[in-house]
This record gives sequence, structure tokens and C-alpha cells, in this order.
Amino acid sequence: MRVPQVFIETFGCQMNEYDTELVRTILKARGYGFTDSADTADVVLLNTCAIRENAHNKVYGHLGKLKPLKEERGLVIGVLGCMAQNLKQDLLAGDSLIDVLVGPDSYRALPDLLERAAGGRKGMVVDLSEYETYADIVPDRIEGITGWIAVMRGCDNFCTFCVVPYTRGRERSRDLIGIVREAEALAASGCKQVTLLGQNVNSYGDGSHDFADLLLAVADVRGIERVRFTSPHPKDFPDKLLEAVAGHPKICKHIHLPLQAGNDRILQLMNRTYTRTEYLALLDRIRQRCPAIVLTTDIIAGFCSETEAEFAETYDLVQGVEYHSAYIFKYSERKNTIAARKFADDVPDAIKAERVARLVELQRGISLKKNRALIGQVVEVLVEGDGKRSDQWRARTEGNIVTVFPQTPFPFSDPIKPGSLISVHITDATVTTLYAQAV
Ligand code: SAM
Ligand code: SF4
Repeated sequence: MRVPQVFIETFGCQMNEYDTELVRTILKARGYGFTDSADTADVVLLNTCAIRENAHNKVYGHLGKLKPLKEERGLVIGVLGCMAQNLKQDLLAGDSLIDVLVGPDSYRALPDLLERAAGGRKGMVVDLSEYETYADIVPDRIEGITGWIAVMRGCDNFCTFCVVPYTRGRERSRDLIGIVREAEALAASGCKQVTLLGQNVNSYGDGSHDFADLLLAVADVRGIERVRFTSPHPKDFPDKLLEAVAGHPKICKHIHLPLQAGNDRILQLMNRTYTRTEYLALLDRIRQRCPAIVLTTDIIAGFCSETEAEFAETYDLVQGVEYHSAYIFKYSERKNTIAARKFADDVPDAIKAERVARLVELQRGISLKKNRALIGQVVEVLVEGDGKRSDQWRARTEGNIVTVFPQTPFPFSDPIKPGSLISVHITDATVTTLYAQAV
């Protein structure tokens, strides 16, 4: 009998990439095969993100493109993940192309739903769970030098702009021992770098261990050379965690610490639970204990009622802190969130866009200055694979900055390969990339 072929397309964050690996395992166990194009698939699954409007629009765009395939050969179409959770009936309504909707806590129900859909019955399971962590499912990974592990799911913080607590439910952590086993399996398959994932990763706790314990345990796994984590919330950064990052040679000296806004009224309106002063004090503490740290952040411009003077405080903070890089987003109202229910989305779109553009320009200047300051230095990089040009290696510094350098030309054999941890001499830099020579 022919094995039904599935094509999965993943949108959004690393957590969604990880979830796609879980879904592959669940479907493989029920006899499905995988293909890398919708044209050769019997089932197309879109693993979606609902965090901002453009993520959302992208999914609708892709659905539109699948329409002719569905009409031609009765393709089964499923929407998984955050958007499925958030939009429920909207997506299944009327003449919708979608046959199956599955929320992030219900992937185990997917094979049954697909079987029913093949028989013409649409269905959805979007229940949120207080317990589901998929701890017993080994993700079906494409083997490589880097891998990620979801250590906790959901979020209890209810930042007023954010849809995550509604799409991914309550916060729950896996047991430390299961995570360490997963890291050992990754190391055995040749993986050198593990990134620990969670919506609010540093609030991890399994009852006996906190996030610092977990980081140290994973960093001690033999064969793993680098450990990263994302995203931490500034409210959960005790000295013990800072000591772990600063003290363990395998934990990368890079912290992505979302700021969101630099003004106290806006921070309070966002329910971020810290003030500008507290956030800056945390950065001081981090830099004092670990001067080599590379800091990056997330910022939202144009949140409800943000004035020009309040935005100027964010601008001023970014100028003063000098992050190595930053993700800068235009506020987009999300259905069901506290902000959508209680506050007016009253900053005109043109002003939001202009604030984003100003911050991006500021940050690009800072990123370039920081990268250029590395010229002449020797730094350690982890080689991930070929660069855009096949005669170059693509690697990353401990601070996660992309670094490219020449491969040894044929007919000489190159001692470097993906997974090599080597020293390079930085010779040039742009806003996003370092250029180097192997030493
Ligand atoms: N949990 C992380 C934290 O607390 O900072 C962030 C997770 S969220 C998936 C990634 C980023 O998306 C956020 O840091 C925020 O900057 C941005 N984001 C979330 N909701 C947004 C919205 N409604 N509009 C614009 N940006 C948003
Ligand atoms: Fe969203 Fe806030 Fe939770 Fe981050 S901490 S996932 S921004 S609610």
C-alpha cells in the first residue's frame, strides 16, 4: 500500500520548529511518510504562529496558494499551532479550505483527525492542557550541528500585548532528567550546540531543580560544546543563574533579554512587572559579573497610547545600553489579549512604522560599530556548514554573530568541518556579519 505523504511548513519561532519535529514523530509512528513539496503531498500541514499580524497574514497567503491543489486532487489541509488555537471556528467556517485544526497541546490527536479528514470529515482539537509536555516523544530531527530542546511550554505572565498565554496555555516544565537524556541523544548524533527553549525559559522548574540547575546539567553533557537559551524574562534572573552563565565555559556568553519598552508607564501597561531602573540594574549586574557578555533584545514600538516622549525613553535606553542586535516590532493588536480588550490601539500606523524605522536605524549603527570593534581580534567560532558561497564556511561566535571565512581550496584537504570549534581572526565586518580567516 502506498504510504501517504505529508508536507509540513513551519512558521514563526524555534519553538514551532521543535513542535514540527514532534509532529513528524507522531505521524511517522502512524505510517505517514514525508515529502518536501506540496505538489507531491497528500496532506499539507501549516504549523502556524499568531504572535504578530504579518505571521498571521503569511499563513493566509499560503492557504490561498493551496486552493488549486485541493481542487485538483483533494489534498487534506491541516492548520497546527498557535493560529489554530486562536482562530478555531473562523478557520473551519463556510467554504474554508481547512480540514483539520490542531492546537499546540493536541498534536497526539492529529493522526486520527487526518484519517477522518481523508474520509471527508473535518475536525479540530484545540484543548489546552495543564500537563502536556510531550516529554515521552523523541523529536524527529534532521541531524545537524545544532539542536533545540523545549524545556517548558506555555506562559503565565500575561503581558497585555501577547497572545502566547491564550494559544499555548499555562506554564509547565519537563523533568530535568528527561531533558538531559535528550541532550545526550543529540550529542550522540553529532550535535555540538543545544538551545534550551521556553516562552519564559528561566522560570523553568521541575519541583527539584531551577533553570540554573538545568543549564549546568545540560552544559555538562559530554560532546555538547555550547549551550544557549531563549527567551528569558528579566523578572527571573537570580544571581545563581548569572553565576551559571558567567562561570561555565560551555554556556554561551550571550543573553537575549527582551526589553519591550523603556518607559515605566508603558512597561506597566504591558504588565512586564519591571521598571526601566530595575531592567538597567539587571544589565549592570550582568555586565559586572560577565564583562564579555553579548546582549540582544526585543522591542515593541507604538504600543497603545505610547507618546513621542515615552518612545524617546526607549530610544534613549537603546542608545545607552548598546545591544549587539535587537528585534524591533511594530505593535500589532492580537485577538483575545488584555490589550485588545482593554486599551485602544490608538497610535497611528504611520507613527508606529516611523518609530520602528528610527530604532532600526539607531540599532544598525550600534551593531556595525560593535562588529567593527571586533576587527583584529581572534575569536572562537562553531562551524555550522557552507556559507552562501560554497568556498566559504559559515560559523557563529559565542555571542551568536554570523562569521564567514574561506574554506581551504582543492586539492588540499580542509581540516575544518561542520561542528569544528576553531579560532578565527576577524578581518572585516558589516551590520550582521563578521569576515575572518582561520588561524
Ligand atoms: N517570552 C518572551 C518575552 O517575554 O520577552 C518573548 C516571546 S514572543 C514569542 C517574541 C517577541 O514578540 C516578544 O518579545 C515581543 O517583542 C514580540 N511580540 C509579542 N506580541 C507582540 C505584539 N502583539 N505586537 C508586536 N510584537 C509582539
Ligand atoms: Fe508573551 Fe510575556 Fe509570556 Fe513572553 S513573557 S510569552 S511576551 S506573555
